[in-house]
Amino acid sequence: MPGLIVQKYGGTSVANAELIKGVARRIAGVHDSGTQVVAVVSAMGDTTDDLIALARQVAAEPTDREMALLWSTGEIVTSALTAMALHDQGHEAMALTGFQAGIVTNSFHTRAQILEIDPGRIRKLLDGGSIPIVAGFQGWTEDRDITVLGRGASDTTAVALAVALQADRCEILKDVDGIFTADPRLVPAARKLDVISYEEILELARAGSQVLHPRAAELGEAYGMPIVVGSSFRETPGTTIVRGDQMPLEEEGRQRVRAIAHDMDVGRITIVGVPDRPGIAFAVFQPLDAAAINVDVIVQNVSHDNVTDISFTVGRADLGRAARLLAPVAQELGAREVTSSATLAKISVVGSGLAANPGYAARMFGTLAEAGINIVSITTSEIRITCLIDESQVGEAARALHRAFLLEE
Ligand code: ASP
Ligand code: MG
Repeated sequence: MPGLIVQKYGGTSVANAELIKGVARRIAGVHDSGTQVVAVVSAMGDTTDDLIALARQVAAEPTDREMALLWSTGEIVTSALTAMALHDQGHEAMALTGFQAGIVTNSFHTRAQILEIDPGRIRKLLDGGSIPIVAGFQGWTEDRDITVLGRGASDTTAVALAVALQADRCEILKDVDGIFTADPRLVPAARKLDVISYEEILELARAGSQVLHPRAAELGEAYGMPIVVGSSFRETPGTTIVRGDQMPLEEEGRQRVRAIAHDMDVGRITIVGVPDRPGIAFAVFQPLDAAAINVDVIVQNVSHDNVTDISFTVGRADLGRAARLLAPVAQELGAREVTSSATLAKISVVGSGLAANPGYAARMFGTLAEAGINIVSITTSEIRITCLIDESQVGEAARALHRAFLLEE
C-alpha cells in the first residue's frame, strides 16, 4: 500500500533501548513495504514526570519558559535514539526536533498551540528515501523559544504533521490495543471499541480519559484526518476514529453510551458569598483566562439575598495559582472567601445523542445513588454527562455505570 502515514509512538512503547529497537523495526517495516512513513516519538517512559520532579528540586516555582525547554529534551532523546537504531538496522533516518521539523507555536511555553507547520524539510527527507523521526510535543516561537504543547501532546504533533503532509492516515501507537469502553485498570470488563466518532473521542479526552490528546482529536475532526489508535507491540486492528455520519449503523443504533471516562486531576475552587451583579463572572474568569488556566465544570448557584457562590474546577497543578490569582479579585468583589479542594474527581458517560435522551441522565444519577455515591455537581454537553464525586469512589462509580449502560456486552 503506497502513500504516506504518520505513526506516533507513546512513552511506554519506547521506555528502554530494546523497545526502541523494536519500534525502529516496525517503522522500517512500513518503509520497506513501500509506504512513506514519518514517526513522532514521546519521551521514554516516565521521563517527563522525572524532569518535572527534578525541576521542583531546584526551584519552588520553575518558570514556564525553562520548564518547556527542560521537557522538550525527553522527546529529543527518543528521536535521536530511534534514528540511531534505524541506522544500525541499515536504514536511512534523521532525527528532528520540533524546531527542525518546522513546527511554529504561540508562546504559552508549557501549553503552546501550533500556529503553522512548514513541512519542507520532512518532505525533502521523504523524497530522498529517508525516514524522519520527529521529537513529539514541541515547537518553537518566532522569538526562537522552545515550547511544548501540554502534557500528552505528542499525539497532537502527529496529527498536525499528518494534516500538514496530507498523509493518508495517522496511527497513534501505544501500550494498549485501542480505545476501551472504560479504563481497564478500573473496569476489568471494559471492551475494546472498533470504531468511535471524532466528537465522542474529543469528549472522552476532555473528560480526562487519556486515550488521545484533545487537540489531536480536534485537529483530526477539523481536517478529516483518519486516525487509528492501536498497539505498538502487536499488529491488531485498533480503534478507528471516523466522522459521526460514517459510524456503522449497528454501532450507532445499539448503544447511545459509547464509553465512560474518569479524571482524577480535578481541583475545585469556590468563591463563597459573592454579591450577585452583572460582571461578576467576567471579573472572576478573565484573570484565569489571561493566565492560560483551563477552567471546567463552572457552577453558579441561585442567589439568596443577592449573594451567590461560584465554583469551578481546574487541573490540580493549577489549583494554587488559581487560588492566589483570585484572592485579590474576591476581596475586591466583596466575597466572603475563596476555598479550594483537591479530593474530588470527575466521572463521565459519553455517547452521541445522549442529551436528547433525558433517560440517560436519570439512569446515571440513579446508578450513582444506588451505589451510595454523592454527586457534588453535574455538567452536561450534547453528548456527555459529567458528575463531580469524591475521588475515593471513582472506581466503584465507573464499574457501576459500565454495568448500568450495558457496556460489557
Ligand atoms: N512526554 C510528554 C508527556 O508525558 C508528551 C507525551 O508523552 O505525549 O506529557
Ligand atoms: Mg509521556
